[in-house]
Amino acid sequence: MEPVDRSTIWPYDERGEPGRFYYSRYDHPAGVAAESALGEREGGDALLFASGMGAAMTVLLAFARPGTTVALAEGCYYGTSKLLGLLEGWGISYVEYDQTGSPPTADIVWVEAPANPVLTMPDWKALHRHPGLVVCDATVATPVYLRALDEGAHIVLHSATKFLTGNHAALLGATVTRDPERTARLREYRGNAGIVSAPDAAEALVRGLETLDERMARHTETATELARRLEEHPSVSTVRYPGFSGVISFDVEDPRAVETSTKVILNATSLGGARSTMESRYRWEGDRIPRGLLRLSAGLEDVEVLWGDLEQALIRH
Ligand code: PLP
Repeated sequence: MEPVDRSTIWPYDERGEPGRFYYSRYDHPAGVAAESALGEREGGDALLFASGMGAAMTVLLAFARPGTTVALAEGCYYGTSKLLGLLEGWGISYVEYDQTGSPPTADIVWVEAPANPVLTMPDWKALHRHPGLVVCDATVATPVYLRALDEGAHIVLHSATKFLTGNHAALLGATVTRDPERTARLREYRGNAGIVSAPDAAEALVRGLETLDERMARHTETATELARRLEEHPSVSTVRYPGFSGVISFDVEDPRAVETSTKVILNATSLGGARSTMESRYRWEGDRIPRGLLRLSAGLEDVEVLWGDLEQALIRH
């Protein structure tokens, strides 16, 4: 394995011309290697960003203007709605809509596949009929279960902080498009705004992609079994699971009591890591989601160990 090149500069050639790399805010070798690997998985041109939200911000910088309207999937990642709310001061407005049906009139339709934490999927047929720019956040599906560009999305977005790197150890975002003009525009805003990836995070993505298929198969197998058992548990009222990937959400009477009673499952935010995590989303999202909702990201631990942990936490409350 080559050591990660963490340099910020690469000297010009003997004629004083910049080479492929010259200043790391524009491009760096680890980033380019990771972009090529992710682009291949998604069937498009990938760009990396400082975080998933960095990717989202760059999409909005590049494609929204004062007066732009965004139709956002209801129950999607809270941070995306928060960012759009903050940008209302810049003349960008948004409405949330049920992504299992048709989007309202808007310049940009922002869907999430599946939405975190309500785990609905977008209606692709309805999106085909929509004239707006379709952005699909495919963080939870990953390219293992969804190639959103094939479904008709114009821009795919990832928080690579999650399953793609898979270890709760790198903060990273990505976009993928098939339109060279869109990629160039995103690249222009990324470099000039400085919303760029760190070389070590990019390297984590290269490594993460090498085991993505195996990890996702295991996340799915474990989550499918946990969702089945949760469905049958008397303390659980609603279980949401799309049938793939590692994220489940379910409702209980006292989510705070359950989340603080697990011993193997970390009571922490985020998802997609080898270590399972679970949290009540109410603390962050308030009434945007059901008050009793717990989001569980099934990790790579033994399924019986995870079920034992969940069961003792559910029984105690
Ligand atoms: N999109 C989804 C679906 C997420 O779950 C998250 C983070 O939780 C983000 C985007 C934001 O990504 P990041 O935390 O890497 O900025």
